[in-house]
Amino acid sequence: MIIDIHGHYTTAPKSLEEWRNRQVASLKDPALAPKASELKISDDELRETIEQNQLKLMQARGADLTIFSPRASFMAHHVGNFETSATWAAICNELCYRVAQLFPEHFAGAAMLPQSPGVDPQTCVAELEKCVKDYGFVGINLNPDPSGGHWSSPPLTDRHWYPIYEKMVEHDIPAMIHVSTSCNACFHTTGAHYINADTTAVMQLIQGDLFKDFPSLKFVIPHGGGAAPYHWGRYRGLAQELKKPLLDEHLLNNIFFDTCVYHQPGIDLLTRVIPVKNVLFASEMIGAVRGIDPQTGHYYDDTKRYIEAADLSADERYQIYEGNARRVYPRLDAALKAHGK
Ligand SMILES: [Zn+2]
Repeated sequence: MIIDIHGHYTTAPKSLEEWRNRQVASLKDPALAPKASELKISDDELRETIEQNQLKLMQARGADLTIFSPRASFMAHHVGNFETSATWAAICNELCYRVAQLFPEHFAGAAMLPQSPGVDPQTCVAELEKCVKDYGFVGINLNPDPSGGHWSSPPLTDRHWYPIYEKMVEHDIPAMIHVSTSCNACFHTTGAHYINADTTAVMQLIQGDLFKDFPSLKFVIPHGGGAAPYHWGRYRGLAQELKKPLLDEHLLNNIFFDTCVYHQPGIDLLTRVIPVKNVLFASEMIGAVRGIDPQTGHYYDDTKRYIEAADLSADERYQIYEGNARRVYPRLDAALKAHGK
């Protein structure tokens, strides 16, 4: 089985974006605020947007199942207040739930949280639990910077975040550390802010001792781990300066990297530097980079090609495609087993 652990509903019907635009406009004039019930999207519309896009490409490229979360750049936690994010997260999560219901063989949900800058993450717990218990979601996306590029929240190792971690451990779900739109002009959203955040998360985790408090907590660092695998020597050296254990022990029982680096040398480096047990197959398709690479003639985000061409054994490929995902997402594993897979 080939499990793509990183997909977003980037192709949702236009009416979703229109509803969000009205919600954002209403921040200046609350009388204009749209009700959640005013957004009407039929199952046929959902089916069409998936069949024409994600599912078509999954089938063409050979992926069986995608862990599917709301469009990351649209989370925009910096917009409005907690209520704004709560209404928006509920709508977006419900759509992913409906997609997973319509295509249970091919999609499993992961939740966006109703984060808001300066608001206690405890407020996210109700939506998290609804998504796990009622929707059967198998993971969450956790935004380490709900300010959208100003980094006003404490590091991920701070007790500030513990209410989320306690629920992750209780429900046995991992979090993908995933920022949203940058509202700082210095940081391009997907080219700089995303990669910065991935790298920043790894360094925060090196500086702290979070996994002593939560030995079973699991984070997926997307986009190939940002710059971390490329600079692994720097991070090993910094950990040493900080008198931390070796990174194998300090981080690699708890953090995992996906394969969204979009070229062969990047995957070759990732799979040489990072143990295969910590690498999970993903494409983030249909996402930030949608073009065709003129050097290969293939889509940049057709990431299975790179795994196929990497110097890996059949067992290592199995780990990357399926085995690691089942271990990191135990609820997905349980759901698959319940269906004889
Ligand atoms: Zn993403």
